[in-house]
Amino acid sequence: MQNIEYPYMPEGHHLQYASVNNPFMQEAARAREECAGDPLYPVGIVLVKDGEVIARAGNGFNKGPGEIHVCPRVVLDCPSGTGYDLCALHDAPGHSERMVLAQAKEAGIDVTGADAYMYGHWWACEPCWTALLEAGIRDLYVTDDAHERFSRDNVYGETLTPSIKTVSLEGFEGELLSEIVREVGVLGLQVVEQDADAHCVLTAQGAQCLLAGEPVYTVEQTEEMVKHLSNVLKQL
Ligand SMILES: [Zn+2]
Ligand SMILES: [Zn+2]
Repeated sequence: MQNIEYPYMPEGHHLQYASVNNPFMQEAARAREECAGDPLYPVGIVLVKDGEVIARAGNGFNKGPGEIHVCPRVVLDCPSGTGYDLCALHDAPGHSERMVLAQAKEAGIDVTGADAYMYGHWWACEPCWTALLEAGIRDLYVTDDAHERFSRDNVYGETLTPSIKTVSLEGFEGELLSEIVREVGVLGLQVVEQDADAHCVLTAQGAQCLLAGEPVYTVEQTEEMVKHLSNVLKQL
């Protein structure tokens, strides 16, 4: 047992730990890649019974990769544990633990006595623990280094980097324009003149962020606007 402070742990229970190389943990890692619909904090999970994987799922409602999600909580730098009302993608029903139980139920699989292997997070929230225990899951395994490997800083360090390369800035002027150019440079993005060549267009009109011509986020005109714009770009 490791000496880690968990935000939640049900009375009389504890997480179990497995090596990253454990084959079921590897299966959970694959589920993270293939099933997780949350591009910011992707989590994969499998249920194992009698040495076999009987169900697999990912968080973000199991939507799979490729979803662009600009999370308002990340844009607005919401402190950990706050702002949950701003975004439904991260709600408990979409967590990997709940999704895998739903998958198993839909397939008519008896999960009683199964173990859960989760890759991508280091603890489970109260609604998820409750659901796992009510379903008769025996143990929940995370990697033995999960509290570091999947700390918020480490995960965001990987997922909060822009996959786009260029932006064009429309209608910004003066000091605001230079500030945005500076921030964009910090992110390693190139500012291009022609909208048509840019992966993303930022417009001063309502500070909209457009991706392929479609608005993906509108940043409020506040003192924090440039910081918030940068937080949008990190998620694209
Ligand atoms: Zn979100
Ligand atoms: Zn949860």
